[in-house]
Amino acid sequence: MAERIVLFGGTFDPVHNGHLIVARHLAERLGLERMTLLPAARPPHKAPACVSGAHRVEMLRRAIEGEHVFEVSELELSREGPSYTIDTIQAVRERSGPGASVSLVIGADMLAELPDWHRAEEVVEAAEIIVARRPPWHLRMEEVFASLAVALSARQVERIRRGVVETPLIDISSTEIRRRIREGRSIRFLVPDDVRAYIEERGLYLGGNSE
Ligand code: ATP
Repeated sequence: MAERIVLFGGTFDPVHNGHLIVARHLAERLGLERMTLLPAARPPHKAPACVSGAHRVEMLRRAIEGEHVFEVSELELSREGPSYTIDTIQAVRERSGPGASVSLVIGADMLAELPDWHRAEEVVEAAEIIVARRPPWHLRMEEVFASLAVALSARQVERIRRGVVETPLIDISSTEIRRRIREGRSIRFLVPDDVRAYIEERGLYLGGNSE
């Protein structure tokens, strides 16, 4: 059977239970054998990450320890320049066998930004888009689909619409976790315990950027 490559990209600054619950749900719902978590070096659409790629990879590794469906890829971290998704898809295709399919998992907040992506139309042609619901964006999905029409054809928007999966609504963000750490509040139950221990042992996210 042709290989199915499913990429879940993000800053993962840090990885949190929202990412993990949604990833597991998708893996089960879609019957995936593998899902690749792909931390971005320099996300083109967001502020730079607060901690190094090495820290973010290590936290991801701890988060998925023993869960064989997940793997972490350093593909984007090892590339110079901004992490454009189209380049990643092309690099993944070159490495995989002929006929491999590439799918991209994105949260509904990211979907709203898709029209601003570098070569958005080509991304949508090159990969199947799997959309995870995320509060509060789940309340305005129609608005999000309408906004996609700026950059994508009606056929492409329709394909994306069919890619929405009824994932559980988990209102956790990395921003919230970083804020709680700065304020000296607990992040227990929001990230896996091993990730929390890693953050605390190294004093990550306490001040400004920590390499
Ligand atoms: P930040 O708060 O720093 O913006 P984030 O929590 O959005 O970070 P990212 O690492 O930027 O986390 O997200 C990576 C991908 O995971 C994106 O596609 C995003 O939409 C999705 N995602 C993150 N958190 C959730 C969540 N709670 N539910 C569904 N999707 C999520």
